[in-house]
Formats: sequence, structure tokens, C-alpha cells
Amino acid sequence: MFYLQPSWHLGRWCVQKPATRKERPMKIYCCKCRREVDAHLVSGMTTNTRRPEYWGRKYYQCPHCLNYCLAQKFGNEWRPMASIAAPALRAERQRLHDLFDPVWKNDPNPTESRKGWYRYITIGMNRKPEDQFHFGFLRSFSECKRAESLIKRIYKKQGLKFPKRVI
Ligand SMILES: [Zn+2]
Repeated sequence: MFYLQPSWHLGRWCVQKPATRKERPMKIYCCKCRREVDAHLVSGMTTNTRRPEYWGRKYYQCPHCLNYCLAQKFGNEWRPMASIAAPALRAERQRLHDLFDPVWKNDPNPTESRKGWYRYITIGMNRKPEDQFHFGFLRSFSECKRAESLIKRIYKKQGLKFPKRVI
């Protein structure tokens, strides 16, 4: 059931599903606020008011800067799929993700190949191999730059041509 209700963290009225007891705020790192925040589970109606195609999805939203990340359900729990980031950083993550895809998709064993290259980036980012890297974890543009240079190295190893940046 959906209600039109005042949203304290948005400072305006909006249509949303009221938070249930299970949907408590979750501590998530916000790249914009540069700290862990109590993020709220909201529906796509709140984050993408003008995009009905996203209304069925759920997001964790930072109550301070109102940026958000996608949430996905695992059992009874809604888990954040990334750290919270502003649109520019989200776009950069997406660009790197798209850049990364060709290096494993053409491999005869794509699943293993992707795992291996993710591991390569994890180690290259000075993280422990068990901290599995994901593009949603990139917290800043300097981290994105580091990841891009690693992807560039993978292209070289694979004998692929690194695409020129389109501006
Ligand atoms: Zn924030």
C-alpha cells in the first residue's frame, strides 16, 4: 500500500511506502558526505519521481545529501548494492564497468575470467584478495582513476585496443 506522506528526510510530500519495522535505517558509506550515514530504504518513487519504470525498485538514500544506491533483496534483508554516491561518481563507475566488460565477455570461460580479473583489480587497488572488488565500491574519482589504469593494463595483457575517451 502506498501513501502520500510528508517525508522528513526529503523535506517535502511524496508518495511512498511507509517504512516497516524491518526496514530500519542501515549504515552505509556515503561518498558525498564522506562518512557512514543512516541510510533509509525508499522506493523508486522517491528517488526517481519522474521515472515510473524505476518505481518498483528500492534504494538506500542518504538523509543528508539525498543521494542513493540500489538495494536488492536477499532473503528477508535489503542489501545495498554499492556505497551511496552522487550522479557524477555513479556515471564514472558505470563507464568503468562498461570498459571492463569486454575483457571477460569474449573469454571461452567468462565466469572464471571475470573472477580472475576482479581479483587482479582488487590486489592492484591494495586490498586483500578476499575483499572482492566491485565497481560500486569505488568511493572517489581518484579511486576510479586507479581502477581505470588497471583496466588499461588488462587490455594490454589481453592484446585488446583500449578505446579512446569520447568527450
Ligand atoms: Zn550523503
